[in-house]
Amino acid sequence: MDNQAKLEFKSLAANVAFARVTVAAFASQLEFTLNDLEEIKVAVSEAVANAIIHGYENRPDGIVTITMTISNGTLELKVGDRGKGIANVKKALEPSYSTDPERMGLGFVFMQSFMDTLHVESAPGKGTTVTMSKTAGSPGGKEQIAH
Ligand code: ATP
Ligand code: MG
Repeated sequence: MDNQAKLEFKSLAANVAFARVTVAAFASQLEFTLNDLEEIKVAVSEAVANAIIHGYENRPDGIVTITMTISNGTLELKVGDRGKGIANVKKALEPSYSTDPERMGLGFVFMQSFMDTLHVESAPGKGTTVTMSKTAGSPGGKEQIAH
């Protein structure tokens, strides 16, 4: 059965944990393994942290939205902010690239490796939307690796 829910919250660090737990609860409607759910949680944390840290530059008055859709056994997540935007998305997606020398530049790498698809849409001054999806029971789950 198809399902959809939306989350909207202020750009506060405390809401990273709120978002990851809520998305995991929604995702549990599909037959994801515990490992899949952990991976989804990491991907959500990275996307929300980016919206808060980079999009809103740690200002607490921004709004982060997450649209969660379940369709045909696939979970699709859209994490959106109306913050700073990304000038060069291609560069931002490169491993170890960060505009902050103190950071690792690995958030997008985690999102890419833990989800099946990742797409980033952004416009400087307008904001960023990260769309990612993961299909329940798809190959690549750690459980499928033979011992
Ligand atoms: P890490 O995630 O390892 O702490 P990071 O956040 O810099 O470091 P990524 O998450 O891979 O690394 O993001 C790469 C770069 O893309 C960021 O340094 C930032 O410049 C830009 N970026 C990512 N998300 C956003 C966003 N929502 N709004 C504006 N810029 C963003
Ligand atoms: Mg990051």
